Amino acid sequence: MLKAAFPGSFDPPTSGHVNIIKRASAIFEELVVVIAENKRKNYLFSAVERADMIRELAKDCKNVSVSVCDTLIVDFLKKEGIKLMLRGVRGLEDFSYEFEVSMMNKMLDSGIETLFMTTDPEYVVIRSSSIKEVASFKGNLKGMVPPLVERALKEKYS
Ligand code: ADP
Repeated sequence: MLKAAFPGSFDPPTSGHVNIIKRASAIFEELVVVIAENKRKNYLFSAVERADMIRELAKDCKNVSVSVCDTLIVDFLKKEGIKLMLRGVRGLEDFSYEFEVSMMNKMLDSGIETLFMTTDPEYVVIRSSSIKEVASFKGNLKGMVPPLVERALKEKYS
C-alpha cells in the first residue's frame, strides 16, 4: 500500500521536484517517479534525458525508481499495481488544477487515490516552464535547479 507514483513532465527536473521526491522518499516505502511522454507535447529534453537526470538526482534515495509512461497515468498505475498518486502543489492555482485532474483520474479509475504534498516555501515560484525561459536568456538558475540540470540547460541553449 505504501508504494506511490509521482508523475510529471520534469522538463527539466527542478529543485522543487527534487524537494518533493526526497520528502516523499522518507514517507513511502517505495516511490516511482513517472516521466510523462506525450507524443503531442514538445519537450526540451527527451524522456531518456529526463529519466537519466532524475535517476542521478535521486541516487541517494534507495527506494526511488524512475519509469517512463506514454499511456494514461492511471493505466500505468494499474499495470504496476500502484494505488497512490502523489502530486506537488505550489499554491492555490496549482491546487485548483490538480484537484480537477484528480477528479478526472478518479472517474477513470476509482481505485486510485491522489495525495497532495505542499512545496517547501523556497520552491513556491519554481516551475519548469519559467526555468526554460530564464535558461533561454542565459539567466542565473543557481538554487532553482540542481547543478547537473543547470549544465544540461546551458548545453541545450548554447
Ligand atoms: P511543472 O511544469 O509545473 O514543473 P510537472 O509536470 O513537471 O510540471 O510537475 C510534476 C509535479 O511536480 C506536479 O505535481 C507539480 O505540481 C509538481 N511540482 C512542480 N514544481 C514544483 C515545485 N516547485 N514544488 C512542488 N511541486 C512542484
